[in-house]
Amino acid sequence: MVEKMTKTCPKCGEELEFEKGGRGRPPIYCRDICRRLAEFWVRYLTRELDQLEGRRIRSRETVLGGTP
Ligand SMILES: [Zn+2]
Repeated sequence: MVEKMTKTCPKCGEELEFEKGGRGRPPIYCRDICRRLAEFWVRYLTRELDQLEGRRIRSRETVLGGTP
């Protein structure tokens, strides 16, 4: 008898079933599209954070530049 475990997909909240002690790692997302979307968001947010960080550094330079 194969024992089944359930967990929740972090992307869409869907419940997914996997075999306990099965081969390979348990799945994180319920389907491929959720995994792809999650990867896309990580890339998107990383880029946004980089841009924000760049703006912050530039604005600090402006403030420092104005100080005698
Ligand atoms: Zn999902």
